[in-house]
Amino acid sequence: MAFVSMTHLLKEAQKNSYAVGQFNINGLIWAQAILRTAERLKSPVIIASSDRIVDYLGGFRTIVKMIDSLMKEMEITVPVVLHLDHGQTVERCMAAVDAGYSSVMYDGSHLPIEENIRNTKKVAEYAHAKFVSVEAEVGSVGGMEDGLVGGIKYADLNECVRLVKETGIDALAAALGSVHGKYQGEPVLGFDEMQAISRAVGIPLVLHGASGIPLEQLKRAIAYGHAKININTECNLAWREALQKTLEENPAIFEPRALLLPSIAAMEDIVAEKITEFGAVNRALQRVK
Ligand SMILES: [Zn+2]
Repeated sequence: MAFVSMTHLLKEAQKNSYAVGQFNINGLIWAQAILRTAERLKSPVIIASSDRIVDYLGGFRTIVKMIDSLMKEMEITVPVVLHLDHGQTVERCMAAVDAGYSSVMYDGSHLPIEENIRNTKKVAEYAHAKFVSVEAEVGSVGGMEDGLVGGIKYADLNECVRLVKETGIDALAAALGSVHGKYQGEPVLGFDEMQAISRAVGIPLVLHGASGIPLEQLKRAIAYGHAKININTECNLAWREALQKTLEENPAIFEPRALLLPSIAAMEDIVAEKITEFGAVNRALQRVK
């Protein structure tokens, strides 16, 4: 099955009160763990590469070929979206579309709103002509992602409405207190603002920095319009902890496969836990109505 855009998947998810998980890849084994788990749980899934590590991963075309080949070898039947996370420029988003991504995020959240809208619109026109879905962001998610640190800035409702109406995007990341990376203390999400923004924009919302947000808050976020939830840090922490344990318990091992198999299993556990928490198990079986 070829990659699908996330537009229809997210509409279905929002309508039926669950969320599709976005899991970021940091190498081949991440992709294997995510695909195998999504297939086992019969869940739609969004595989994402963060723009900042695309070149480290071998470039857009390598990533497209890698995921596409894996899906064939693994006989994947569930819907898979290949998504660019935090696309840094209009040109990078276009390059991802040209390479075969089925979804892109343009992140102009650090720009003045006029510029964010102008650039997002360019990406949306280009992507939509090729049936590729588009996500954009207002406000700023706090914390660290791929080495960049930033503060939390809540999304402004009017800016959210303008961005959605003027660009025709398919999903909106409205920053409301979530943080990339590890949380210091209990996360506090702006649920009142979330509800108001969801009602005003009328398209699915995306929750960034969801690693470490308690289940109760995740469920509320889904009830208030979030149909896509991004997970990266939790998989990486599980990968690292399993690797550390393996090294400590078997100091003589140097065969990479033996070292990494426990990490793959640990990541699969996290992906399964998240897909289950988001309510997406068996959702791949629901046919288009
Ligand atoms: Zn993010």
